[in-house]
Amino acid sequence: MSLTRDQLEARLHYPLGTTLPEPGRALVVAPGVKWIRMTLPFALDHINLWLLRDTLDGREGWTVMDCCIAREEAKAQWEQVFANELDGLPVLRVIVTHMHPDHIGLAHWLCEKWDCRLWISATDHAMARLGTQTTTGFGGDAAAAYFASHGLTDPQSVAKVRARAGYYPNLVPSVPAQSRRLLDGLAVRIGEHDWRCISGYGHAPEHMALWSESLGVLISGDMILPRISTNVSVYEQEPEADSLQRFLDSIDKFLPLPEHTLVLPSHGRPFTGLHERIAQLHAHHDERLAEVVAACREKPLSAFDALPVLFQRQLDLHQTTFAMGEAVAHLNRLWHAGTLARTRGADGVWRFSPR
Ligand SMILES: [Zn+2]
Repeated sequence: MSLTRDQLEARLHYPLGTTLPEPGRALVVAPGVKWIRMTLPFALDHINLWLLRDTLDGREGWTVMDCCIAREEAKAQWEQVFANELDGLPVLRVIVTHMHPDHIGLAHWLCEKWDCRLWISATDHAMARLGTQTTTGFGGDAAAAYFASHGLTDPQSVAKVRARAGYYPNLVPSVPAQSRRLLDGLAVRIGEHDWRCISGYGHAPEHMALWSESLGVLISGDMILPRISTNVSVYEQEPEADSLQRFLDSIDKFLPLPEHTLVLPSHGRPFTGLHERIAQLHAHHDERLAEVVAACREKPLSAFDALPVLFQRQLDLHQTTFAMGEAVAHLNRLWHAGTLARTRGADGVWRFSPR
């Protein structure tokens, strides 16, 4: 019997208990590190953002980590934070962990308002710029064709995916043209502390987590979350991607960090128990993979067929597209491992069966 989400979560430790920052206010979680929590109008109803006390080019101020989506409500929450939490000092730079809308949506607004630079991986910067101009991974004809090749063929869903071509630009209308490039292993000096960039794959093109050894703090972004498992998807731009293996390899890069590391995730609460959580995520995906293999032994499955195997709950269209990406990620992993073979039917749908 696998453990429930509550039982797994009970193995982690939350130093602040159930305390959350009030809207427009921050909570100090480490010296010079403040936690902001903003509401999101999605099933995932909040995002954590971070303020780091900084000195840059001789000026005192703050570094902002992640931005929230481009919505008036989010700007209003930021204005409250500026009034309440900056001690009268400016924002000196904006660091973005990855290109997803809840993280980068307001980067252009923040950088313009404070006349400061965006720091981000080159891959995510390019993909975000592209995303504001085209339809990448979230809707449109290419996405509809990709989902159809994995069995999502009912006309209503296809029409809805097509119609969502504007999903990304709607939440991220603009991205600064210039950036400072974050690279794996790069040390970024923020205030009195060095933070090391740790790249991660499988969730976003090139996610950057930041770890400060002297503070004992990891800003994990979406790579390590305490309660929900990170979305690991295959998108239409790279249909054969082995995203799940990329993700599992990436989270293992956090294993050398000390056990007492305080993890600051983008969703959920700050926690310790990093090694336990990494083990839980491996176990979670191992179980899902075993279930998918078992189901494929009964009959060849498309990713769409595998949805009820992987997700035992009702999914709306938005959740279905994420779930489809996850299902392809698990099927591709087993295909790359040689456990499953795939064949394309006369209907154009890929189906996977034991090799
Ligand atoms: Zn994300």
